[in-house]
Amino acid sequence: MTAVLELRDIKVRFGGVKAVDGVSLALEPGHLHALVGPNGSGKTTVVNTMSRLVTPTDGQVFLGGQDVTAAGPHEVYRRGLARTFQGIRLVEGLTVRENVLLGVQELPTARSRAGRRRAAEAADEALERMDVHHVAQVAPAALPYGVQRRVEIARAVAGAPKILLLDEPVAGMSAGERQEISAVLGRLRDDGMTMLLIEHDLRFVLGLSDHLFVLNFGQLLAAGDPAATAALPAVQEAFLGRKHVP
Ligand code: ADP
Repeated sequence: MTAVLELRDIKVRFGGVKAVDGVSLALEPGHLHALVGPNGSGKTTVVNTMSRLVTPTDGQVFLGGQDVTAAGPHEVYRRGLARTFQGIRLVEGLTVRENVLLGVQELPTARSRAGRRRAAEAADEALERMDVHHVAQVAPAALPYGVQRRVEIARAVAGAPKILLLDEPVAGMSAGERQEISAVLGRLRDDGMTMLLIEHDLRFVLGLSDHLFVLNFGQLLAAGDPAATAALPAVQEAFLGRKHVP
């Protein structure tokens, strides 16, 4: 089966720093993958390489079997790669619904009149799915952080992406908000969305993900079934001394 997204021997250098040092991985359709690792292990650089914000020094990126190593961020977005950022990026001055609509309208399928109508329907459906339809006419800044995050996820899923990358979606959130986001991601997984969740809290991803990748010093330390992978001595050691050991 063709992986939705694949990295082949990716290396990224920033001056003398090897941020990513030979990472190969494949994301399978309909799975919720988690990419974990201590701070500075290269997680964000891997995601930025996938979404084409960072160009690797070496290696290749494949989206749906096609080499997109030289493509720009907008091109991979049009080809079905959506992402959210660590810091929420919603447009102030637009309502929640307008923000979500923005995510769909940029897609080539929304160019015709019928396409625009479908885009509006998709936006409303995404608002419902993420349980934020009741705040559709509100300005995002007026909403709690956890709700803003759900709006951002709604914007990403409204365009029916082939893959969704989530960079630490629960960082800085309360226990209640984390639970809400966890429920939303679980629902998306049940609907068959292919996802990669970046997280430094191993415990948060254990009950949620189908497949775990562990990064350490820019290299893939282990990968596989989440519980079995998290229990490996090398993985425990990488997280040792950190408060998030499961
Ligand atoms: P993580 O997301 O796991 O915390 P990062 O991908 O942010 O890790 O960083 C991996 C390494 O690359 C770190 O040593 C970091 O300091 C370095 N790094 C990341 N981005 C840059 C950059 N733009 N310039 C220089 N060094 C960077």
